[in-house]
Amino acid sequence: LSGIYIHIPFCKKICYYCDFYFSLNLANKLDIVQAICTELELRKHFYSPETVIQTIYFGGGTPSVLTAQEIAKILNSITEFYTVSPEAEITFECNPDDLTLNYCQDLHVLGINRLSIGIQSFHDKDLEVMNRRHNSYEAEAAVLNAKQAGFNNITIDVMYGLPGMTPAEWDYTLSKVAELDVQHISAYALTIEPKTAFSKFVKNGRIKIPKDEGVVQYFERLIEFAKEQGFEHYEISNFAKDGMYSKHNTSYWQQKKYLGVGASAHSFNGEYRMWNISNNRKYIESIMQGIVPNEEEKLSQIDRYNEYIMTSLRTKWGVNIEYLKKNFEKDYYRTFAEINKKYIAKGLLQEKENSIILTNKGVMLSDAIMSDFFIV
Ligand code: SF4
Repeated sequence: LSGIYIHIPFCKKICYYCDFYFSLNLANKLDIVQAICTELELRKHFYSPETVIQTIYFGGGTPSVLTAQEIAKILNSITEFYTVSPEAEITFECNPDDLTLNYCQDLHVLGINRLSIGIQSFHDKDLEVMNRRHNSYEAEAAVLNAKQAGFNNITIDVMYGLPGMTPAEWDYTLSKVAELDVQHISAYALTIEPKTAFSKFVKNGRIKIPKDEGVVQYFERLIEFAKEQGFEHYEISNFAKDGMYSKHNTSYWQQKKYLGVGASAHSFNGEYRMWNISNNRKYIESIMQGIVPNEEEKLSQIDRYNEYIMTSLRTKWGVNIEYLKKNFEKDYYRTFAEINKKYIAKGLLQEKENSIILTNKGVMLSDAIMSDFFIV
């Protein structure tokens, strides 16, 4: 699968836990849209001419700050410079309060066929504490509007381990997810990133977050819920009904190439990782001079190995033994096999069809297991 990621670097409000790159100043939105289109042209040789794009992903920031005309302009540039499959998965991340019925209908007409809605919680108090733009009523309305507009591939983001959250509240959020009958969920434990408002609030005691054992309980409940509701747990934080995996994200986890366009977007060409400058003004200035403002780094064998372990162990497809043997020097597989033996004996990993995957018990300890495999 070959994909294009478009980063829309704007938000209307700062969520207190977020450390993504975005700007609150929407004054240069049109210039950014134009620069994205120009970058798409400048990088039209990223893929070989016979490549067919199978996934397009608008992420952010908040793509739903764009008007239908602005999105159409970007999509037109993609189809002008790349060959896009008629069946391509086109995902669009949005904030619930932007999803009016009209806007959903516009997105549907534009050919967007997968909506990713950043709901996070169905409790107003959680949404307030996180400084989200929407309330629980808007969260629900967003999904209903998307469905009414014809979307049948909807994913929602929810979070657990939030300040002051109780198990009953998490159960309520999950029951709302079930009621809304969406095809996919991404569920994340809150992590406190340095330099965010939450990091400051934890230090000064304004908020308290649950200890690790508490977070594990929420995760266990999530796994149980997913099973009851017929979601397949195909990646640590991702759950899909009827095989409706995120094709775009799955290709990241499978080490496929991807082109990332826009300020702060990352790309990978199979050998080099590249990242664009995280500054809207400098990004626009450079693109207007015909220069993509990015840095790059060649991945060493160790980097590739560690990334492969980290991303593949997170998924239901696991670490493929043949892939390891074919793509890395012998020593890597030997080291892997030794550590693997220990975890198989403990019942944390299992072998299935020539791949090593986490057991249910192992999923709870995945971070520690993965880092044990890393080569430094
Ligand atoms: S909307 Fe998304 S990108 Fe913007 S501040 Fe909130 S979490 Fe971060």
